[in-house]
Amino acid sequence: MTNPRNADIKTYIAQNFAKEDQDLLYAKENSVKNQLPNIEVSANTGKLLFLLAQLHQPKKILEIGTLGGYSTLWLAKGAPEAHITTIEGHSGHAAVARENFKHAGLDHRIELLHGNALKMLTKLTEKKEKLHYDLIFLDADKEGYPDYLPLILKLAAPRALLITDNLIPKEGFINQPDEKDEGAKRIYEFNAMLASHPNIESILVPAIVGERGRVDALGISLINFN
Ligand code: SAH
Ligand code: MG
Repeated sequence: MTNPRNADIKTYIAQNFAKEDQDLLYAKENSVKNQLPNIEVSANTGKLLFLLAQLHQPKKILEIGTLGGYSTLWLAKGAPEAHITTIEGHSGHAAVARENFKHAGLDHRIELLHGNALKMLTKLTEKKEKLHYDLIFLDADKEGYPDYLPLILKLAAPRALLITDNLIPKEGFINQPDEKDEGAKRIYEFNAMLASHPNIESILVPAIVGERGRVDALGISLINFN
């Protein structure tokens, strides 16, 4: 759906509040050069990740869905003390992300796990030492979201912050996805899990994304609220 006014609002916010530094600009350029899809978070959402990381001061961050590491870099800059584990299944994306982390001089505290998200998350839960991530950013395949949530809850520290991208599907009636739209069905399923979970407090924050001003939403959840 096209909405020119929304696109203008997005640009206005980005120009005034979400300026990208040289590392972020390089990550984007290098991703374009290597033909990665341009499905990274917007600069505005990146800045929100940065601010949430500043507020929450996580020591351990887990990201699911790295692409070229653009969102990873916003998180790393927002949490200068944190060690970040980021999971990416596509080897080409992983290679570009590694270049971008190195270029930013942040590769010493960003560990990229190359592999299927469900497999890697399961592996992390099986580790002997409790990992306890205090900030988790979920932005991988939408079909996987409902399967990732229980594993994320196992890996989360008490009062961990879970941030989830793309919680309003691109198309279809709201909360009435087309029977054939597997991604949309799974997103609404995930949202229902968040909304009904006794120990998670969440909100979906509407976000303008893409060049045409589509409205999506970013989920912000506090885990083990009680
Ligand atoms: N967080 C990134 C964008 C991630 S796009 C940013 O904002 O900069 C989603 C990424 O998830 C893609 O790179 C895709 O290859 C990866 N992905 C999709 N399904 C996956 C899976 N099952 N396991 C691991 N990675 C997956
Ligand atoms: Mg996304």
